[in-house]
Amino acid sequence: MSNIRSKLKRGDTVEVITGREKGARGEVLSIDPKKSRLIIQGVALRKKHQRKIQSGGRTMSPGIIEFEASIHISNVLIVCPNCDEASRIGIRRENGERVRVCKKCQEVIED
Ligand SMILES: [Zn+2]
Repeated sequence: MSNIRSKLKRGDTVEVITGREKGARGEVLSIDPKKSRLIIQGVALRKKHQRKIQSGGRTMSPGIIEFEASIHISNVLIVCPNCDEASRIGIRRENGERVRVCKKCQEVIED
């Protein structure tokens, strides 16, 4: 199992720690483990001009669409639901199961 899979998960809130979007927070919508990149809701919005396209049998009308660009995993930290700090994730064993813990407050981060 890749590193990214065992740590960040869909639905986690993360904070961008570097670059143009530094400080932005949002929910992880999807993870690409092969590329180690995430899509975060409302973060790294890009606009593109859309011509008429066919998509899954639907025709989308032309115009400007907004979409979230992916961000590399190394540019974000999880926002701990317990202490509300952007933190690194540690792994601890509890009752034989691996759980994620916040390295700042040491509390378990629920999935
Ligand atoms: Zn914490």
